[in-house]
Amino acid sequence: RARSLGKGMIQVFEQTMHVNGIEQLKLETSLRLALERQEFVLYYQPVVSLNLGQIVGFEALIRWQHPEEGLITPEGFIAVAKETGLIVPMGKWAIQEACHQLKLWQDQFHGQPELIVGVNLSARQFVQQDLIEQIQEIIEISEINPTGLRLEITESVIMDDVDATINLLKKLKSLGLKLSIDDFGTGFSSLSYLPRFPIDTIKIDRSFVGQMETDDGGENLAIVRTIIRLAHALNKDVVAEGVETASQLAQLRSLGCEYAQGYFFLKPVPADIVTAFVESHPQWDSNHQDS
Ligand code: C2E
Ligand code: MG
Ligand code: MG
Ligand code: MG
Repeated sequence: RARSLGKGMIQVFEQTMHVNGIEQLKLETSLRLALERQEFVLYYQPVVSLNLGQIVGFEALIRWQHPEEGLITPEGFIAVAKETGLIVPMGKWAIQEACHQLKLWQDQFHGQPELIVGVNLSARQFVQQDLIEQIQEIIEISEINPTGLRLEITESVIMDDVDATINLLKKLKSLGLKLSIDDFGTGFSSLSYLPRFPIDTIKIDRSFVGQMETDDGGENLAIVRTIIRLAHALNKDVVAEGVETASQLAQLRSLGCEYAQGYFFLKPVPADIVTAFVESHPQWDSNHQDS
């Protein structure tokens, strides 16, 4: 394709590629350093029960506390981390850190409320030979009750070898933890496999929730409704991601969705802030409108 371009364009094109390559390499190097220097932190976003009007847990989300650039969200580095494989040590750190925090919450609240902490597990992490041993060791060292831990996997993890995937998921479940499918509906996995997956929760991708009320044809609303019915038919819990407005919340309620997460409730924040929040709001007032 480059051949049809003028010579100058090719030069620009090559230069751009070159710069991108160098920048990619720079980012990879600084991510490595950041891991060593422990510059990553976890932020937590509440998951609320729409029936109980109460926080039932949090999703742990990684952030890079860059010494010069400030706080960087995964958008800025997660793609490179995945391409380079750095997501493996980075993701392991996130699970360790989330379990450490979960232990503090389990000790503080004694199950009242019982908080479930979700941590994302990317495809590269999922295929590690010693994944089960790693998770088991983290559970033991952190001394958590593993029923409070939820691993979030996407459909991309599931697709390749279905039977091997199911086996692995069963082994994970046997550690006593919970599993959820994240960003459900975006991965085009075969629905026929779904009943065989030992998962507890389906998380509806925020792209559907965000457009649920704005698209003219109502396709997104139809998708959300269908996912909720499907989840219930399979006896799974369903969490709607990316709830930003009171009207989306009302809509989800009327569709029978029982859990939600989104900026309407709270953005991801440091652990001490959500801790204070649970301490002061044991019952979530679902009519609140602050942000
Ligand atoms: P995810 O697991 O689907 O996480 C939900 C994302 O939606 C988070 O983005 C969250 O901040 C954002 N979000 C929540 N509510 C709203 C809302 O109301 N509106 C909008 N526009 N966005 C909302 P974040 O924190 O940037 O994370 C992006 C992705 O990076 C995550 O998507 C997950 O796939 C990945 N990730 C984050 N932390 C980790 C980690 O510790 N390990 C691994 N393996 N992946 C991680
Ligand atoms: Mg997630
Ligand atoms: Mg998600
Ligand atoms: Mg996502």
